Amino acid sequence: MVTDHATRPTAVRGPGLPASLTPALLERLAARASAAPDAARVTTTSPYTGAPLADLPVSTPEDVDVTFARARVAQKSWAATPIAERKRILLRYHDLVLARQDEALDLMQAENGKTRRDAFLEVVDIGIVSRYYARNAAKYLGPKRRRGAIPLLTHTTELRHPKGVVAVVSPWNYPLSMAASDTIAALMAGNAVVQKPDTQTALTALWSMDLMYEAGLPAGVWQMVLGRGSSIGGALMDNADYMMFTGSTATGRQIASDAGRRLIGASLELGGKNAMIVLDDADIEKAAEGAVNACFPSAGQLCVSIERLYVAESIRDRFVAAFVARTKKLKIGAAYDYSMDVGSLTTPSQLKTVTEHVDDAVSKGATVLAGGRTRPDLGPLFYEPTILTDVTPDMTLHDHETFGPVVSVYGYRDVDEAVARANSTPYGLNASVWSRNGARARAVAARVHAGTVNVNEAFAAAWGSVDAPMGGMGDSGLGRRHGADGILKYTEPQTVAHQRLQGFYPPARISPETWAGLLTGALKVMKAAGMR
Ligand code: NAD
Repeated sequence: MVTDHATRPTAVRGPGLPASLTPALLERLAARASAAPDAARVTTTSPYTGAPLADLPVSTPEDVDVTFARARVAQKSWAATPIAERKRILLRYHDLVLARQDEALDLMQAENGKTRRDAFLEVVDIGIVSRYYARNAAKYLGPKRRRGAIPLLTHTTELRHPKGVVAVVSPWNYPLSMAASDTIAALMAGNAVVQKPDTQTALTALWSMDLMYEAGLPAGVWQMVLGRGSSIGGALMDNADYMMFTGSTATGRQIASDAGRRLIGASLELGGKNAMIVLDDADIEKAAEGAVNACFPSAGQLCVSIERLYVAESIRDRFVAAFVARTKKLKIGAAYDYSMDVGSLTTPSQLKTVTEHVDDAVSKGATVLAGGRTRPDLGPLFYEPTILTDVTPDMTLHDHETFGPVVSVYGYRDVDEAVARANSTPYGLNASVWSRNGARARAVAARVHAGTVNVNEAFAAAWGSVDAPMGGMGDSGLGRRHGADGILKYTEPQTVAHQRLQGFYPPARISPETWAGLLTGALKVMKAAGMR
């Protein structure tokens, strides 16, 4: 929660901050945000307790302008820095994040309320992504010879130039992963980055930036501004050469329209209502365990988590019994160690949405098989992992993203029905298919309208396959992160074609008619020779 000083809440029960999060560290990180010395301040609170956590400066639109001006100067020499040197910095960053992970885990838990094991997956993500782009950027960005217009006579090269200064808007739900992974690719491509992390989880983002400077990033190449989208979003958009946005579909539409006005590119990673299909030949115990891992990480505040579960009627009862039994055993609570399975929601507005969605469903006839309750005894924002059945289209959560630990289970009769129902939303972010027959499951996966589909896994298999694109179809987004798409989107391609000896126009000694005949013959020969 972010409040101004007048409405600061009082602390409730829960663990105190871990020893690593000293006031000096929190102040040092807060001071890394780009804001005027006399900037207004906001206070964030810890989801575990409601106690005040950080006192952060608020950037103004003028601060954003100044930050971009600084970034433009820094970007010039950064773009001229050899890729080998950028790679060295990124590999050092990789090592620093792994070595200092305890500090990052403490920060993520304090700001977001997630469990330590959920936070640890963010550290893993940064390790994978930084190694990948450090070791592959040169391959993607280096000059490429392309087939010339006239064989042998046209020498054509594709070059990749950085866009310039990229704006990155990153959310609160995966504060380390989302702050760093898209930025890493933009930096490796030679851009500077001005980032607006969500204020609630700004310390984690600032920590991550701080480590990149410790790894050797030159001053000004990565900076952060803090504030509401309604206040500084316009200045970000007016200055950016490219916009990388992660957040809700509603805000994504606004960003896309603003990017269209300015004719700059934008990559939008938005919401979802992700489906999991359990086929009739699935290993029921493994699928039930998979469903737990699919629905409740970060208390369901995960863009790729599962909120709709379609189970073959023939195994439905056995699957539901196994899933409910496992869910009821989950340990839910606040602890700065690996003892908990499910953590807290992050903000009062998330708790409100989750409560409203479940209450609405129950009032219209849904059955609660597990959970369905807040847990104020554990902390102000805890909600039990919840499994619903008898969910019908008139209930809000049937189609709308809850972004909480709530899943609806439906039966289906045949695979066509399962696929049709999985595809029955405007979203298309992530999906999961379970079967003992890999080929069968992969064939079903290819029919699902989603940017990533995992077989016998919830989301981590596709997410962690960073050599392949990740992102949403339909209302879940535009553009992709990871792989070639994840770095090339931050570049301007340029084609340099050097024509030697003879071009397409006739030489002085040959009549246009003769020349046309010669060229026609040449085209026929090229096709007959199998040229592409
Ligand atoms: P949100 O859209 O409300 O806010 C996201 C951020 O956008 C905030 O920091 C906000 O200040 C900023 N913002 C608002 N207007 C802006 C503007 N005009 N210009 C620039 N920035 C502006 O989203 P949220 O509720 O904070 O995040 C949750 C949503 O994010 C969920 O829908 C979730 O599915 C989605 N999400 C998607 C992914 C993904 O990879 N697809 C990952 C994480 C979260």
